[in-house]
Amino acid sequence: SYENLSGRTALVTGAASGIGEAVALTLAEQGVRVVLLARRAERLEEIARKIRADGGQALAVAADVTDSASVGRAAAAVRETYGRVDLVVNNAGVMLPNPIEDGRVDEWQRMLDTNVLGALHVIRAFVGDLSATAAEGGTADLVNISSVAAHDIFPNYAVYGATKAAITHLSALLRSELGPKDVRVTNIEPGLTSTELKDHMDSPELATQLDGMADRFGTLAATDIADLVAYVTSRPRHVNLRQVMALPTRQA
Ligand code: NDP
Repeated sequence: SYENLSGRTALVTGAASGIGEAVALTLAEQGVRVVLLARRAERLEEIARKIRADGGQALAVAADVTDSASVGRAAAAVRETYGRVDLVVNNAGVMLPNPIEDGRVDEWQRMLDTNVLGALHVIRAFVGDLSATAAEGGTADLVNISSVAAHDIFPNYAVYGATKAAITHLSALLRSELGPKDVRVTNIEPGLTSTELKDHMDSPELATQLDGMADRFGTLAATDIADLVAYVTSRPRHVNLRQVMALPTRQA
């Protein structure tokens, strides 16, 4: 259990499954009011119901991070119910690998729109909440979920890796702007984690390759990353873990 989290208000994107769902559940267990954002409304409602049944507070907001108007409407709904958010977890993402020579512009667009522009739309909608919270002496956190793929070289994952490198560098740059305002920015880079991420890939060979990696390395559970999010956001206000990479122990 972590101190300092109770009473805070978090927005978690991509909260319908995998890491985002685990983050929402873990934060709620720590007494955080949680806004769950993703496209699948029913999945979000189900998770929010579970949180409430366990005595927590949760709001499900269906929105598409690739659409700035949709994110804006979500922000208005959040403000109406909970007021200001002081903890934002940019986690929504898609991974659609294929050889660059296949020229899958549709997949490139989805990854850039979701992983990079989606995070920016969310930051645009909530950064004012974070800096206002910090200005009043409260604790404010922006947590971006990047990936080990921001650094490691995986053939056929060029565009995905590039979107994650963008998030890692964006995090460092935002810290230079927001740190002086007492808003913490943390970039988390998970290794292989057992979630639904692989289900959206349409290359059977690359899916099989990923299964092989999971067999060799083992995987992190989504709850391992959720635990990390709770750890970094529960440090004393003057401590900012800027960058954390978490890998299955056997993943070299
Ligand atoms: P999941 O596929 O389980 O979760 C992705 C989440 O993002 C879902 O809840 C999905 O919900 C949501 N999402 C996707 N597109 C959008 C959109 N346009 N608008 C709003 N929400 C969206 O995979 P993970 O939990 O693994 O992925 C979470 C993050 O972790 C991603 O950024 C991924 O890159 C990163 N990551 C994962 C690793 C792994 O091995 N699993 C390793 C390193 C990083 P819905 O479809 O309902 O919108």
